[in-house]
Amino acid sequence: MTVLKTVNLVKIYSGGAVPVPAVRGVDLQVDDGEFIAIMGPSGSGKSTLIHMLGGLDARTSGEIWLDGKRVDTLSESAWALLRRKKVGFVFQFFNLVANMTVADNVELPALLGGASTKDARERREHLLEALNLTERADAAPAQLSGGEQQRVALARALANKPSLLLADEPTGNLDSRNTRDVLRLLSEVHRDGQTIVMVTHDARVASLADRVVSLLDGEVVDDGKIARRRPAKGGAGEVIDLR
Ligand code: ADP
Repeated sequence: MTVLKTVNLVKIYSGGAVPVPAVRGVDLQVDDGEFIAIMGPSGSGKSTLIHMLGGLDARTSGEIWLDGKRVDTLSESAWALLRRKKVGFVFQFFNLVANMTVADNVELPALLGGASTKDARERREHLLEALNLTERADAAPAQLSGGEQQRVALARALANKPSLLLADEPTGNLDSRNTRDVLRLLSEVHRDGQTIVMVTHDARVASLADRVVSLLDGEVVDDGKIARRRPAKGGAGEVIDLR
């Protein structure tokens, strides 16, 4: 089943002296449970594309379909509702609620999504533990490092098990240990059937994906399934060790 589809999606920034065509006719189809990495050089339109997919940036033309429903025509408030129910976000600016603890920030989306108090608490505990944040549960976002805030944003985005997880550089600020924790959690939720679309520069993140979509100058120049090399006899192959 297709979770997400774009048809000839275009974004032209026209606020400045010269219009900037950031995304130029992207056709993308993401199936249920797929993990897609979007890669490409700086300025190739990755952030603009993922922002449009989550309704944070309005498209200039084209269509976006989510779970069989056209969404590019929705109002801001309809998008907000959709995000609460179906789309988890991890963006480079961390949209945490400043006057809530880490624990409450992570639990809230699950509660808003209709989970019971017990389920929301269990989910929160699991996510904080998986991201090495249990000790920071009572802290306020302002007391956290950039990397900690980024991991809380990921936990928050996954709290209500959204149909689609969108992430823009989820390991951008992280050291190697925390990157490993994030990769391990992404692998786990992907294994459990979570659909993921993620912008990344990081080859380790991309190597977990089923497909890499490469952008250049706002266009898809490559969209291919990752060929998983079979391990040579007795060899370790290309398996990434996330332990
Ligand atoms: P990437 O994420 O691949 O680095 P972006 O989507 O951020 O690429 O940018 C694509 C192009 O759109 C770039 O040329 C960038 O300068 C331009 N751009 C991005 N945001 C804006 C904006 N708010 N106003 C005008 N131009 C923008």
